[in-house]
Amino acid sequence: MLVKYYKILPCVAFAGAMSLVVSYGSAMAATSNSRSEPALYSQLEAFHGHVCAGSIFGARLGLAAKEVLKASGGTGKFTARYYDLSCPVDGIQVAAGTTYGNKALSVQDRDEHRLVLTAQGNRRSVEARLTKKAEEMGLRSRDLGNKIKVLPANAPERAAFEREVEEIYTWLKSAPVDEVVSVTTLNSKKEKR
Ligand SMILES: [Zn+2]
Repeated sequence: MLVKYYKILPCVAFAGAMSLVVSYGSAMAATSNSRSEPALYSQLEAFHGHVCAGSIFGARLGLAAKEVLKASGGTGKFTARYYDLSCPVDGIQVAAGTTYGNKALSVQDRDEHRLVLTAQGNRRSVEARLTKKAEEMGLRSRDLGNKIKVLPANAPERAAFEREVEEIYTWLKSAPVDEVVSVTTLNSKKEKR
């Protein structure tokens, strides 16, 4: 049975000056998430136009899927299919290098946050999804964003809410791969269409 998820990916642009706080510290030191360079997220912000959980999710999905597909011997050009037309699509384009313009990305708008990456050389595929925890963090940042939007600029709670949102973004970018994304290897014949 297909469970209908309600929109979990916030696309929140804040009126306040929210600088992108990058605090890559010990959280990622011992992880395999070595490719989450701040440069990638700066590039993503410039490309996408704002910082949001959805675009970060896309980057994490794209990076993780690419690494697993490479490690499992995928050859040739990689192509991506994503099942929701929303912010993660831009993260995938930047992080996995599979872009709409180079015909390496297709999107089916089914409200499913699921990335399938396929190696065209040998048709190996992997599927990447968000973990429950990452979904919850995304929801929390969306709720906070909605609260911030209706607060007056000088409301005392505002700074705390904005700080929490930034902490969520930092976590989404720097947490170990397994905490944010789950990747499974697909038999290409069984890939769901
Ligand atoms: Zn967005």
